[in-house]
Amino acid sequence: MRLGVDIDGVVADSYPFWLGELNRYYGKDIKAIHRYEMHLIFDVPWEHMNQFFVANVENLFMAPTPMPGARTALAKLSIEHEIILVTARREVEEEITRRWLELHQIPFTKLMVVGDRSKAEVCAEEGIDLFVEDYAINAALIAASGMPVLILDATYNRVELPQNVIRCYNWGQIYQTILKLGAQ
Ligand SMILES: [Mg+2]
Repeated sequence: MRLGVDIDGVVADSYPFWLGELNRYYGKDIKAIHRYEMHLIFDVPWEHMNQFFVANVENLFMAPTPMPGARTALAKLSIEHEIILVTARREVEEEITRRWLELHQIPFTKLMVVGDRSKAEVCAEEGIDLFVEDYAINAALIAASGMPVLILDATYNRVELPQNVIRCYNWGQIYQTILKLGAQ
């Protein structure tokens, strides 16, 4: 199978680190991320938060640790499957993304840095069979094309989702679910 896998909130445990950095920067003490759009949580314009990310890209993209179990599961899956990393990060962030993947020895076949492009469209073009995502809206949009989507549970994605979106609570479950689906 060709497995599509998102990066932030799936392979990289980015959000807890970003939350800490944003709390320091904005002088707040927000404990949990209850929605995906972080500028709305901090009640600041998107452009303002984007400037913070651009100015601190080295720290914000290099410091997060991998999601527990992600590397091990991807290493096992990559023996039989192709791993296509599909991230909404921008083209200018491709180099730093590759450095982080190399640093943590994350196995993958191909990296697609798609920015604002629709992930569902990219999945169709790339012939992806199954996707792993954390953003509920993307999960629903990709699932609408008929492929199974595994959503890695997070405080910001606990909403009702289509039937072919399967909630997983860790990478062990993601791995087992992919094995089951692959055997069907
Ligand atoms: Mg994500």
